[in-house]
Amino acid sequence: MPRPALMTINLDAIRHNLSVAKNCCPLSKIVAVLKANAYGHGAVEVAFAIQDLVEMFAVSSIEEALQLRNAGLKKRILLLEGCFSASELQLASNHDFTVVFHSEYQIDSLDKQTIERPIEAWLKIDTGMHRLGTYASSGLRLFNRLKQSSKTQKVITLMTHMASADLLHEPYTMKQLSLFKQVKKQVMSSDDVSISTSIGNSGTIMGWPEGKSDFIRPGIMLYGLSPFEIPHAEADNLQPAMTLESEIIAIRNIEKGERVGYGSTWLAERPSRVATVAIGYGDGYPRNAKNGTPVMVRGKRAFLAGRVSMDMLSIDITDLPEVRIGDKVTLWGEELTANEVAGWADTIGYELVTRMPLRVTKNYILTAR
Ligand SMILES: *Cc1c(COP(=O)(O)O)cnc(C)c1O
Repeated sequence: MPRPALMTINLDAIRHNLSVAKNCCPLSKIVAVLKANAYGHGAVEVAFAIQDLVEMFAVSSIEEALQLRNAGLKKRILLLEGCFSASELQLASNHDFTVVFHSEYQIDSLDKQTIERPIEAWLKIDTGMHRLGTYASSGLRLFNRLKQSSKTQKVITLMTHMASADLLHEPYTMKQLSLFKQVKKQVMSSDDVSISTSIGNSGTIMGWPEGKSDFIRPGIMLYGLSPFEIPHAEADNLQPAMTLESEIIAIRNIEKGERVGYGSTWLAERPSRVATVAIGYGDGYPRNAKNGTPVMVRGKRAFLAGRVSMDMLSIDITDLPEVRIGDKVTLWGEELTANEVAGWADTIGYELVTRMPLRVTKNYILTAR
């Protein structure tokens, strides 16, 4: 029997989650964000499963983009951080990648390159995230540089990224949106054709109707996790796509006063029944998950007891006498979200799913269409 630690990726759920995005922004085209191996879900598998529903894919690096092209995907692919070196511009041109220009040095570098075919360029404006993007005050000038270059295609998309769209009452988002609107207006009054725009990450798509744009960029919501910390009508319709499971491989009874695991951090406050599950931090389960973190067994909750080891963890099943060796344990999935587990480990669901290591086998579910 293979090691029972297993990830199941429900591609039907990802297709459903795309319909939630579409429902929020019916007029927008979808740029499905597949960076970091589709947040740990498998970029190639996800891309093939959803390509009929989206306009483009987005990734962070040329390596990620080439992985999709080499697998045979023909759709447009957006490089969210642009090109890291001049030689990547060549590759981008050859493979038809869409390139974000977030800093002027990238435009200088394009000017100096000889490339085969003009590149589709997006210009990123920093409206307040202060991570990537040109100053709003240089937006028009750099737009014109890109527009006039013989090395770009004629339609330039203006994009920006929201810093706190997940905080539904945070006025900063409106401030960013209004600055973006100003830049768009400047560009449009200097340009005879209308331009296209791209704003929405998952939080903006579901939480900020004011942030509608031509191209939305859903990431975490595709994978079924809410970006919000509070309940939200649209986000509550999402279906988590990743289920992480393993099995119970040992059960023991321990006396009151005994302790469990490395560092003996869990104390049996009553005579207890403890199960050992074949999954650990070497399988992507967070080592800093605290005592009491929930897991699902036989449709009920049991709780982490003691420190997570590399290949195993222990759970308190004293209140679940029906539990047996060989029972499946779900670490996260539909009934217990990665976001909830993340809360016990001082992180967010994004990080848990994205950093899943290769040794955990992925099993895919996709209903034939
Ligand atoms: C990662 C990313 C997204 C997707 O964000 P989510 O919060 O996962 O929806 C969108 N746009 C850019 C520029 C990104 O880097």
